[in-house]
Amino acid sequence: MAIIIKSNDEIQIMRESAAINVEALRAVREAIRPGITTAELDRIAHEIIVRRGGKPAFLGHPAGSRHPFPATITVSINEELVHGIPGKRMIKEGDIVSIDCGTIYKGFVSDSAFTVGVGEISAEARRLLEVTEAALYKGIEACVPGNRLGDVSYAIQSHVESAGYSVVREYGGHGVGRSMWEDPHIPNWGRPGRGIRLRPGMALALEPMVFVGSPKTRVLDDHWTVVAADGSLCAHFEHTIVITPNGPEILTKLD
Ligand code: MG
Ligand code: MG
Repeated sequence: MAIIIKSNDEIQIMRESAAINVEALRAVREAIRPGITTAELDRIAHEIIVRRGGKPAFLGHPAGSRHPFPATITVSINEELVHGIPGKRMIKEGDIVSIDCGTIYKGFVSDSAFTVGVGEISAEARRLLEVTEAALYKGIEACVPGNRLGDVSYAIQSHVESAGYSVVREYGGHGVGRSMWEDPHIPNWGRPGRGIRLRPGMALALEPMVFVGSPKTRVLDDHWTVVAADGSLCAHFEHTIVITPNGPEILTKLD
């Protein structure tokens, strides 16, 4: 495992990359309403990233694969966890919609996701969104120099499980920089005091994926969309952060 420590200049470029990604995600969040198609949401993000001189990180990823991702954002609705492909599907009142977006700018990737309710959503859905977003912030709080990766994973897992929900096993966060998926892999479950030690200059994408029901997943025939195998609701929040000597700096804050 080779974790790439970023210089201050590289971190500055990552901030700029993240600012573009944030602008795209904000515009998509504002556009989400009943009747809009997921392809229209995708066009909004694509237009902003390209106009700002960035490149969509997901489009055509991974290069050389038989089924490269065909869009700028992933849109995952209700029982869909991650990696949903935008298309003709219309957003409906009561849906919960996860949007994930990545931007490459001057060679550096930023990666961030949120889940939002459309109009009136169930009390269970509201609670799921709150717990998942709070779990992300628990993980980020643990990203201080000297802590270990297991402290981050444990912070996420214990927050989710104490709320009665479950965390995904097959997918997790990751280092991020010149490549979208760098070491280390960051499981959403783990034991405190284990794993690599965190150091200033590490850039990480933390991304809790949380289920109301069982954490078992399956991938649809489109080769991408990951769903909860039991059809239960799930949610996903993600930030790109860097570890500074004083603690975590969130690069992809939306508000
Ligand atoms: Mg992402
Ligand atoms: Mg990611």
